[in-house]
Amino acid sequence: MLATVESATVIGIDACRVHVEVDVSFGLPHFQLVGLPDASVRESRDRVRAAIRNSGYEFPAHRITINLAPGDVRKAGPAFDLPIALGMLAATGKVQPSSLAGILHVGELSLDGAIQPARGVLAIAAEARRHGARALLLPYDNLAEAAVVSGLTLLPVRTLVEAVTRLNQSPADWPIPAPSTLGTPGTLGTLDLDLSDLHGQAFARRALEVAAAGGHNLLMVGPPGAGKTMLARRLPGILPPLSFDEAIEATTIHSVAGQLRSGVGLLSERPFRAPHHTISDVALVGGGSTPRPGEVSLAHHGVLFLDEMPEFDRRVLEALRQPIEEGRITVSRALRSVVFPARFVLVAAMNPCPCGYLGDPKRVCRCTPPQIARYRGRLSGPLRDRLDLIVEVEAVPITALTEGPAGESSAAVRERVLAARARQLARCARARVNAQLSGTELKKHAPLNLAGRRLLERSADKLHLSARGFHRIIRVARTIADLAGAEAIATEHLMEALQYRFVESTS
Ligand SMILES: [Zn+2]
Repeated sequence: MLATVESATVIGIDACRVHVEVDVSFGLPHFQLVGLPDASVRESRDRVRAAIRNSGYEFPAHRITINLAPGDVRKAGPAFDLPIALGMLAATGKVQPSSLAGILHVGELSLDGAIQPARGVLAIAAEARRHGARALLLPYDNLAEAAVVSGLTLLPVRTLVEAVTRLNQSPADWPIPAPSTLGTPGTLGTLDLDLSDLHGQAFARRALEVAAAGGHNLLMVGPPGAGKTMLARRLPGILPPLSFDEAIEATTIHSVAGQLRSGVGLLSERPFRAPHHTISDVALVGGGSTPRPGEVSLAHHGVLFLDEMPEFDRRVLEALRQPIEEGRITVSRALRSVVFPARFVLVAAMNPCPCGYLGDPKRVCRCTPPQIARYRGRLSGPLRDRLDLIVEVEAVPITALTEGPAGESSAAVRERVLAARARQLARCARARVNAQLSGTELKKHAPLNLAGRRLLERSADKLHLSARGFHRIIRVARTIADLAGAEAIATEHLMEALQYRFVESTS
């Protein structure tokens, strides 16, 4: 007796359909799984056996062969448990085989027959709709994310018994999920923090606004307690709201990474990711035997914050170059390479010296000049070249950060950011933001007048600017002009852009 159950797996962040063929025939009891399953899929034999028995069904004491097709796609994860179990129950007559047709099935089984949430269900739901599937049978805990895909019938189930009951029912009797179970917009807490809670630090606040307006990467240099983390956490709140397409992409990545909480639908806020400096390169940029997205992809369309940047392993920092340049990361594996989107604004922070107190009026720095040089040297040239804005954040008494007159609100700053972004989009739709302007586009869209060119040439000598450094300053000046609503880059815009080069001017 042969039964075919439609399922899907996720490669990168895209779903790929998988046919689970279950053959139960007479012969000595035997269970064989073919079709490139990885270790986690091979373990499903024991889970399926226990789940079927503990749900009150008989496990066939026959020859069982399961084939996962297409054979050239590596199948990973436990989400084939449910399709395998349903195929066996169909092959033994507990499920009407015809009822499985046109339905995609996904879910992991517990030994007691309960159905556990799966990764990447949003991508699988989108694939189900693309192929005109009759319905998606899925774990109840994944209902909210699947509901993001409109026009697809969802059949959420909590147990194997419930799945069998639903499949044996007429579709007319399927319960329609109540709107209240479809999940709430996914908040990440990034909008709870407002710039108005933060007082002082006018220079760093301005740099944050320029970073948000032009999509520029930002490095803050300052002693511990100067408010670098507080500033960074307020960047998502002044970036433009997440668009629907951006939200779908971000939610899909979080779903594939298994980072979407149950009951959460579409993410409604820009992500803010702040990995610790002990993170591995795989955890940062993604990878593993079944490639999963890393922190750079979880920060897609949002902010990646690296505190104490020189403390990160050099290899980890080097791995950031591709995502910073291309907005995506390629993870290569023996069978195929997958690409994860990874476009984020990078905010890095570091102390001015290993002890942190260089230049502090109240504390004494005991670092030697070679120690300081070595510390700063850990930020390699190529990576530093991709930090458009480098600002000094001065030590201030903690009371100055939280008391005194309230600062401008995030909403007010965001208004200016939105206006500046609209100008950039109208000027160059490809780049969208000034930070992404190529050298050629920069010449076309950000020409300098004679006075501006002279000013920059003089500064280039003084600051030992590379050609890249030169371009960076023009990009930042273009953003400052956009924030001012100015058509052309004026000397004052360049003067301000030149201030955001702290490290180069002191080392
Ligand atoms: Zn020091």
